Amino acid sequence: MSSTTRSTPTAPIPLSSKPAGQANPDTKTACIRTFGCQMNVHDSDRIRRMIQDAGYAEVQRYEDADLVILNTCYVRENAVDRVKGHLGELNRLRREGRVKRVALTGCIGAAEESATLQQTYDIDLVLGTHNTYELAEFVGLPTMLETYTPELPGTEGGHNAFVTIMTGCNYQCSYCIVPTVRGRMLCRPMGSVIAEVERLVAGGTGYVTLLGQTVDAWRHEGKRFCDLLEAVSESTPRVWFTTSHPSNMEDRTLRAIGERDTIVKRLHLPVQSGSDRMLRVMHRGYKAERYRRKIEVFREAAPDGTLTTDIIVGHPGETEEDHEQTLKLVEDCAFDSAYIFKFSPRRGTEAASLPGAVPDAVVQRRFLEVLRQIERNAFERNQRKVGGVEEIYIRHGSTEDGKAIGETWSGHAVHVKTGVAPGNYVKARIESAGPHVLYAGEPSG
Ligand code: SF4
Repeated sequence: MSSTTRSTPTAPIPLSSKPAGQANPDTKTACIRTFGCQMNVHDSDRIRRMIQDAGYAEVQRYEDADLVILNTCYVRENAVDRVKGHLGELNRLRREGRVKRVALTGCIGAAEESATLQQTYDIDLVLGTHNTYELAEFVGLPTMLETYTPELPGTEGGHNAFVTIMTGCNYQCSYCIVPTVRGRMLCRPMGSVIAEVERLVAGGTGYVTLLGQTVDAWRHEGKRFCDLLEAVSESTPRVWFTTSHPSNMEDRTLRAIGERDTIVKRLHLPVQSGSDRMLRVMHRGYKAERYRRKIEVFREAAPDGTLTTDIIVGHPGETEEDHEQTLKLVEDCAFDSAYIFKFSPRRGTEAASLPGAVPDAVVQRRFLEVLRQIERNAFERNQRKVGGVEEIYIRHGSTEDGKAIGETWSGHAVHVKTGVAPGNYVKARIESAGPHVLYAGEPSG
């Protein structure tokens, strides 16, 4: 499942939060709308570089754009309906002579429905996640040939950068459409990853996030993910990675997180359920006990670190006993936060046709029970940070209330009273804590 890591004003950015662009009337204009996960945000960053290289000015409103690119997500059941709404609006603007061309990229572009959408809405170009590079020719750049991970520039000069190290996924989780739309795993050579990281750091990047659907499954020419992570940790001042799969997570990687100064001590390890029976139905490939052992290694390696996860409640066939086992695992692992998903059937996945649907009211109750347990644990763990002085990396500049959003080396999100620009570090005392965030006073240095 996807992460919802946010981004900075200079690195990949959810476009809705950017100020409206001011385009010269003679300049070609383009608007990119991003849906879905961090991988899509990253792909949009590459698209942004392409349109800039092709001489387009980026604008934020459809009505100001000659070209609109919808970079789409297919993970949620209503994703296609949502995109249809945007396509209908774009057709209206085209009829009025405002928008001239529309391209649809991303996961929906790789799905079966894309042909019907293209016909119905008269979309000029439809691309999947595997051939986004073809957009280059469409916007007037020379054709780019590439195989897997694009060598297109990513986010040079941004404080935070996202570097894709693998695409696709070799698992077949019952509820997930990713393997269908993103294909099987393809890993990028180590030299290529390191070269991109070094280029980004030379351009001013201070924080690199390694991305992949199962990032810890990366392997190439005898090297495994831990080798790559260690090499990257020597090339950048700060590094994190997401999303991991418990079956691929090696103990040496967990120990490296604790030992290496430049690795943020935050582990996102989706568990999905605490019931072995449900884990089998979901085809997750591990048992709850194995997951617990991984967490023990992580907690020992990085006692102060943060642990986050994904949990699905109400998967078809989930019984009260399965749910109890999930609650027990949540208590045992004491997660610092979790993305909890209420199961919703996704067309094209195995789970969509499984019997044993869980009634909505039951799903809602189970959701709240898991949520309360997570928040209780997180609140308790966060309280332990109060009173300590932390080195905080500023991710987002200060808002109107004078608070910037930063991150400690332990991976905790912190609101801190400072006007220091993103990409810098401050030291500040943690004054209070809630279940989701820490609050720091004015920096001391
Ligand atoms: S590991 Fe499972 S949930 Fe994650 S992307 Fe692969 S199939 Fe989807």
